[in-house]
Amino acid sequence: MNYTIKNEYLNGLMQNVIAKDPDQPEFHQAVYEFLSSIEPVLAIRPDIVEKKVLERVVEPERQIMFRVPWVDDKGEIQINRGYRIQFNSAIGPYKGGIRLHPSVNLSILKFLGFEQIFKNSLTTLPMGGAKGGSDFDPKGKSDNEVQAFCQSFMRELFRHIGPDTDVPAGDIGTGAREIGFMFGQYKKLANEFTGVLTGKGLAWGGSLTRTEATGYGLCYFVDCLLKKHNDSFEGKTVVVSGSGNVAIYATQKATQLGGKVVALSDSNGYIYDENGINLDVVKEIKEVRRGRIKEYVDAVPTAKYTEDVNGSKGIWTIPCDIALPCATQNELNLDSAKALVANGVKIVAEGANMPTTPDATSYFQENKVYFCPGKAANAGGVATSGLEMAQNSARLSWSFEEVDAKLKGIMANIFENVDSTATKVGMEDNYVAGANIAGLLKVADAMIAQGCI
Ligand code: NDP
Repeated sequence: MNYTIKNEYLNGLMQNVIAKDPDQPEFHQAVYEFLSSIEPVLAIRPDIVEKKVLERVVEPERQIMFRVPWVDDKGEIQINRGYRIQFNSAIGPYKGGIRLHPSVNLSILKFLGFEQIFKNSLTTLPMGGAKGGSDFDPKGKSDNEVQAFCQSFMRELFRHIGPDTDVPAGDIGTGAREIGFMFGQYKKLANEFTGVLTGKGLAWGGSLTRTEATGYGLCYFVDCLLKKHNDSFEGKTVVVSGSGNVAIYATQKATQLGGKVVALSDSNGYIYDENGINLDVVKEIKEVRRGRIKEYVDAVPTAKYTEDVNGSKGIWTIPCDIALPCATQNELNLDSAKALVANGVKIVAEGANMPTTPDATSYFQENKVYFCPGKAANAGGVATSGLEMAQNSARLSWSFEEVDAKLKGIMANIFENVDSTATKVGMEDNYVAGANIAGLLKVADAMIAQGCI
């Protein structure tokens, strides 16, 4: 990829990032998306340049890599690689999810950790940026094997984290089951019961609404955008990709707000249900049986399943007003963007992290489609993790309604901040610039105040 930035200083930084780690394409992409949108900051904040904030912010504070050996059900030893990227702790303890997927590598975790810095900053809560995970694939593994892996993973990770140091959470492949096994192992090793992980079960320190938070927050963000234009979800056709945690609860909230979600996917293909997705069927398949999305048509024969070897690409050819990519990085490319625009899409909001390629993002912006980047639109998950940390510290549990109301307030604040920041720097409606600049300014102030560390 040719990641050239017009501004000479920013381009120098970009090329240096590429030269330092030439084999990290996802990280380059995330840094490019960031650097190419923050030029207005250079004029208004010369101290950011002088104090080398940008040079520092693209370099993780610490990167940890470790061996994860475990024994499978046949008694054979398996070896995976574990990671934790502690990217930036300027505004709070490191915070970010744990991804378990065969594609996991340093590049993917660095991109995720980098984005997390600015996302966490936007939530207004005191959380630094981090990400971790492993190339372990929980799919097709027994509960025993998942437990063996999670315990081994935590046997090394526990010495690097803590409730005031680094508080991991779930992500792709890490749900309530995995968090439970990891939390149990941490508690045993550290001999302490603390809020060291978020996404915990309700009986042992978890927060109501955390499961729903990312998908709900995404829809609250879109709702703010719609309201700004005196509009609502009412009567809108919505396409959601993925069928995991984020996709399921985005579907639920979009439906509650009056939208009709007509499609969902997984890495094998997508379903189209013109009557609106029956979420009870999806939850039974995905949350109970851990099955495949194609099983939906067994329960709803009027729906259509399309096998899609390109992951969820075909799903973007379905006409919709609102597209919510909620599966994984780079799942929506330029061809998909052209198909969506040709079919009249009005809003694209990222539930996943970096699901849209840079050329697709530019295409949306050029064609006056409102584009909401993940670091703002999907921040509801980590914001609610922040609320879980607050409840753990206070030894309290808030009701679903309390947490949901706080989540709604946070998403409204994020929208307002991103929207007004974009306008202030003369880039009205450019929510990529708004999110990156608003997220950066808070982190930069903290980094400058804390000196050269
Ligand atoms: P889940 O593991 O619950 O679900 C992921 C979904 O995406 C599954 O349907 C999965 O299908 C699909 N998917 C994963 N990889 C691919 C691929 N390579 N091609 C096509 N489909 C794929 O994860 P989450 O819902 O938690 O996360 C989804 C996205 O949202 C990620 O980008 C994550 O980083 C981001 N996110 C998550 C947050 C959270 O709170 N969980 C918070 C903020 C962002 P299959 O089962 O076939 O693999």
